[in-house]
Amino acid sequence: MPLDVLKQVQEEFLDFHHTGMSIVEISHRSAAYQEMQDDTVRILRKLLLIPEEYHIIFMQGGGSLQFAMHAANFLHHCGGYLNTGVWSDKAMKAASFYGDTYEVASSKEDHFAYIPKADSFQVREGSDYVYMTSNNTIHGTEWHDFPSFDVPLICDMSSDFLSRPVDVKNFDFIYAGVQKNVGPAGVVIGIIKDSLLKKSNTRLPLMLQYKTYVDHDSTYNTPPVFNIYFVNKVCHWLDERGGLAAMLETNKEKAAILYDAIDRSDGFYRGHAKKDSRSLMNVTFNLPTVELEKKFVAEAAGHDLIGVKGHRSLGGCRASIYNAVPVEGCSVLAEFMEEFRKKQ
Ligand SMILES: *Cc1c(COP(=O)(O)O)cnc(C)c1O
Repeated sequence: MPLDVLKQVQEEFLDFHHTGMSIVEISHRSAAYQEMQDDTVRILRKLLLIPEEYHIIFMQGGGSLQFAMHAANFLHHCGGYLNTGVWSDKAMKAASFYGDTYEVASSKEDHFAYIPKADSFQVREGSDYVYMTSNNTIHGTEWHDFPSFDVPLICDMSSDFLSRPVDVKNFDFIYAGVQKNVGPAGVVIGIIKDSLLKKSNTRLPLMLQYKTYVDHDSTYNTPPVFNIYFVNKVCHWLDERGGLAAMLETNKEKAAILYDAIDRSDGFYRGHAKKDSRSLMNVTFNLPTVELEKKFVAEAAGHDLIGVKGHRSLGGCRASIYNAVPVEGCSVLAEFMEEFRKKQ
């Protein structure tokens, strides 16, 4: 999280907007809370240029509840999945509880090292939607050009939400668990087109219907007040720094520093992702042996470079360079990589 935001939250923690109470004490039915939530919706609309016909909602249950919930609401006949990583794979499995699911394309046979090309897509007739994951957090691949289809497109943007501009109109439902880029774990932001909402299944418990969140402005029950407040702060932080176009430029610069370190290492560091599919958020790579990888992770920690161990399902190393990581953080890691390699 941006240090500036953490400090602001600390400063305001005992007295939210001159209420004399903390944000974690005030009622979610109070005017002070409602103003803050409305402002969060407004700033999200501004940052992402979200058109009027899209609703913005706040939900709990993490990305993992969305793996089932999108299907509970929208899977009537069959749903197609662009299977590009562990998260889309999980979503497809969770969705299959509600109906037929199939792969529109997949890179599973190649350890999810690339983003499939449009000429390989196969959408079945009668599909209710196509589902995709914009950034594959574990494998370090990212969609740089989004596909479009004749059927609604649903996208899990959990790990690159607000890291770059996206054309919201290309999608019918976007959701993002905020904890990678935008706030503390505990809230999922949903951006849902009214025309898709109208097709949702209403034979579901109210808490599992997107319509409930839309109809009650996300306050059917108590929303995750603190998380939404934190997201509000991060959105303003982004806006003050030139919005998503500026963030994209910084994120490109950061990622280039690390991918250059990989490409200049004479094969010592081996990038997991194919070059045209490389993620700007998660840089994944291997070293020649598992032993060297362990040593790399341990020595990096000694240089205050924490968390470069790869996800347990893939192994290897991974640098997650979300919005709040400064350019200097990437330079320091790249220098460490160079030094480490020369010592072996
Ligand atoms: C982290 C992550 C998730 C899982 O989110 P939880 O909130 O832990 O359920 C889902 N999708 C993507 C793309 C992620 O990076």
